[in-house]
Amino acid sequence: MITADFIGNNELIFSLKRDAASGKTPHAIILEGPYGSGKKTLAKYLAMLLACESSPEVCSKCSACRKILADNSPDVITISPGDGKVQIGVDSVRFVRSDVYIKPNDNDHKVYIIESADKMTHEAQNAFLKVLEEPPEYAVFILLCESSDALLVTVKSRATVYSTERFSSETITKHLLEISPDANKLHADSPDAFKLAVMSANGSIGRALENIEPLKAEQTHSLYMSCLELVMMLRKRASAFDILNHLSSLEQNKVFIDSYLLMFESALFDVMNYKLSNNNVCSFFLDEADLEYVAAALTNTFVLEVTELIESCRYSLLSNVNLQTAITALASELYAMRSKF
Ligand SMILES: [Zn+2]
Repeated sequence: MITADFIGNNELIFSLKRDAASGKTPHAIILEGPYGSGKKTLAKYLAMLLACESSPEVCSKCSACRKILADNSPDVITISPGDGKVQIGVDSVRFVRSDVYIKPNDNDHKVYIIESADKMTHEAQNAFLKVLEEPPEYAVFILLCESSDALLVTVKSRATVYSTERFSSETITKHLLEISPDANKLHADSPDAFKLAVMSANGSIGRALENIEPLKAEQTHSLYMSCLELVMMLRKRASAFDILNHLSSLEQNKVFIDSYLLMFESALFDVMNYKLSNNNVCSFFLDEADLEYVAAALTNTFVLEVTELIESCRYSLLSNVNLQTAITALASELYAMRSKF
């Protein structure tokens, strides 16, 4: 079932409803936004808005709604790159160009949802332009992409562009608990791991759903505990030997170390944010008291310099510097910096 408050994007939904009610839904709509921000759900919602017996509301229960929800409607056609393919080629667009002139079966509209529209080749986009120039009255094209800038200007200029919004942690939490048994289990068994899964999703419901998978959630939680340990070591002016020992105890592969350093950077970002604006909305710290405790002891210059150090360590790892060499250098530089401030 899809309901509007489930998927956020209230202003966008308001515009879609208003257009559907006045029969002014544009023939071409671009929905742009990051992975997991609900573009596919919104596209289906719009198809239901146009087809539902209760239009311009969505009941999720009538025959038209049920068919769309089950991906079973002959009048809602999804085009995607297809198995193992990276691009949408001109063949897919040629199919749309001939199919669009066959009138809808059940509904008043025929809706084409083009997933990863930014993956259309230029040739495909040029072919698509021809349909956009003179579409049949009943046709609606919904193009989904991360950024509409990746589309040809000629395509973009013929469409109405809507951007999906990032979801707040509260919205993601509510949504996950409503739809996912895994989320409920994690929330009950390990509230911290649940909170981390939501925080590290960066506003994306799709990513949050991946993050609550038990193995992933456990890994993120242990990564967090390790990062917090290093943050506390800096706070307590630990020795170079202890810092090196800590870094050496981590899983020694570049992908893991990179995720570790990235999370560590989020911790530094929280500290800086708190120091500059007293803002305690965190992307890393689960416990506000930890943030305050750390922020009280570290100067702005120190936090900035450590951030640069972490950036340059990540860069060395990407440029094929030996892992052990990079970690040893990081430990001694962190220590040298620690004794400077
Ligand atoms: Zn309905």
